[in-house]
Amino acid sequence: MHKIIVAIDGFSSCGKSTMAKELAREVGYIYVDSGAMYRAVSLFCIQNGLMTDTDINAVELEKKIESIQIEFKTNQEGKSDTWLNGRNVETEIRSLEVANGASRVSTLGFVRRELVRQQQLMGEKKGIVMDGRDIGTVVFPTAELKIFVTASPEIRAQRRLDEMAARGESANYEEVLANVIERDDRDQNRAESPLRKADDAVVIDNSHLTREEQSMLLRTLFIEKTFN
Ligand code: C5P
Repeated sequence: MHKIIVAIDGFSSCGKSTMAKELAREVGYIYVDSGAMYRAVSLFCIQNGLMTDTDINAVELEKKIESIQIEFKTNQEGKSDTWLNGRNVETEIRSLEVANGASRVSTLGFVRRELVRQQQLMGEKKGIVMDGRDIGTVVFPTAELKIFVTASPEIRAQRRLDEMAARGESANYEEVLANVIERDDRDQNRAESPLRKADDAVVIDNSHLTREEQSMLLRTLFIEKTFN
């Protein structure tokens, strides 16, 4: 059994990270949430006054980009937390404000180049499952297994609402749906590495799949690639 790279791309809130994490745990691979890295850059901008509702100070951000240190550390529950410049920011980066900022900073070429460089280093030894938007197209174009996950915007908005409710946060369905649609649009239409399916990716539409059905499908695809 040889080690491979698994690239999982798709729209926001379609369960990419759940399936990526689960597969990585089952097969003993490293899991990397590339979206968390863009979120960490967004948080950095917010905390350093580099981003307002309408503007990003790209000149200052570019000067500082190499001083932004992002790490993943396993916590006591065995889950991976995102750290930004020596601080655990896992909870902070999950807010709507940070998510919106992430989809904006991710349109900047110099941000993408730096994060892609770090992601490629993480995958040097293979044995990695990474999820994001450009993993199968830009970060690891030769990944052995590429998955493109999708689900309808309405279903994704409802899932996000349920997740927020589970964390005790209240939100309005229409607002969350509008946010999902806005981020989809930005992800698909940006000039730098827009979200698109790699030609050799397998599409999984999980709108009507149970978690178990999805896991089984992914495991089967993984086994096919690993034993061939
Ligand atoms: O996946 P997640 O929602 O955490 O990603 C946050 C934002 O980061 C996305 O809206 C997307 O714009 C951006 N992103 C990206 N490329 C990736 C991962 C995330 O542009 N590989």
